[in-house]
Amino acid sequence: MLLQDGLSTATRAEVTARLSRPDLGRWLSQVQQVRQCAHPVRLAGSCDTVDRATGEILASYSSAGEPDGVTYVRCGNRRASVCPSCSHEYKGDVWHVLMAGAAGGMKNVPESVAAHPLVFATLTAPSFGPVHAAKKPGRSGTRRCLPRSGDRRRLCPHGRRLWCMAVHDHTDPAAGQPLCPDCYDYPAHLVWQWWAPELWRRFTITLRRRLAHHLGLTESAARRLIRVQFAKVAEYQRRGIIHFHALIRLDGAPTDLDPYPAPAAGIDASVLAQLVLDAARAVTYEAPPVDAADVPRLLRFGVQVDARPVTGTADRDPDAADQQGAQLHPETVAAYIAKYATKAASDLPTDGHGGNGHQRRLQATLRQLAGRATLAALTENEAPYRGWGRWTDMLGFRGHLATKSRRYSVTLGPAPPSPPRLHPPPQPAPA
Ligand SMILES: [Zn+2]
Ligand SMILES: [Zn+2]
Ligand SMILES: [Zn+2]
Repeated sequence: MLLQDGLSTATRAEVTARLSRPDLGRWLSQVQQVRQCAHPVRLAGSCDTVDRATGEILASYSSAGEPDGVTYVRCGNRRASVCPSCSHEYKGDVWHVLMAGAAGGMKNVPESVAAHPLVFATLTAPSFGPVHAAKKPGRSGTRRCLPRSGDRRRLCPHGRRLWCMAVHDHTDPAAGQPLCPDCYDYPAHLVWQWWAPELWRRFTITLRRRLAHHLGLTESAARRLIRVQFAKVAEYQRRGIIHFHALIRLDGAPTDLDPYPAPAAGIDASVLAQLVLDAARAVTYEAPPVDAADVPRLLRFGVQVDARPVTGTADRDPDAADQQGAQLHPETVAAYIAKYATKAASDLPTDGHGGNGHQRRLQATLRQLAGRATLAALTENEAPYRGWGRWTDMLGFRGHLATKSRRYSVTLGPAPPSPPRLHPPPQPAPA
């Protein structure tokens, strides 16, 4: 009875028809297979399992034998706004991958990795203009957004105040919005976001070089002793730009017998943390101009780079963990990991409420810049901004929200969706 409440006449008729069909049992077991997926993929076709040596067909499956002639597969979408069930499953996968590599003792990753030097790092984006900020109460108790002092006493060229005495909490829609949208450098924000994966790639190369330099070895000699493994999650800040949280671990050179050996060089987590900071501060990338009317931009990470050694002797108190540069206890890191796994599987900033004014302006600027880049690519050989406009939902970020190096830990579940390979059914001949 409850089921029928609020259903349209057409839907009610469909439900009745479904319930009275003889293949209801098989249909229900298909539905069960995709569990609570909101948008199961419908596949039609067939596949054969063939003995390679003899060519004999060992088994055949065809969706034609299923109710409605389709087989259902979970959609695998990571966004809770699209499919709560698949998003929830992905979140669990991310947690396992991050946790296994940090603590070991799960998913075939040995417990011994917990003794490897491990650093928890946060790499932020630089500022592209002052934004309203929701602050945690500091030691002095002040939570004001941007108190009036020094050069914040001034007005911007558009006559807007460069200070803000308000206290914003995390639910305040003002948080993350620019003090002056006309001063905010939207193109630079978007160009940085587009090249953030390249900055990360350069960071990992620089870190490997600095490790080798620290050991007084060539890079290839250092590679025989140590390997950098990492897992990272990209998180959107309120201002609509991502920053990276990463677990960075040192291993030895893996072999078939031991995929997770201890590093064969004496570098502890504190030294690794310092090298991570140095590398993050040194990395730059000169982003090409969007078109002939644009300028090249020298990109780097923001000044708020943080890298903390993760050690069993650190204070478990969360307040102690909040101190800049403090060592982190593995349990604190486990709590962070749970939080970031949630972020990786969460909705995009543009999901749900249609975004705020700042996000709409980011998207409008992105569409405009992407259009200019496409026109420029018609006359140039290179198209460094190819496909930019397709990432409007992501506010121009094209990377994955959770990634890892191959040997950090187990593999993240297959990318969505992972249907069985079916041959398409024969097409009816055109009439
Ligand atoms: Zn789904
Ligand atoms: Zn403010
Ligand atoms: Zn202004």
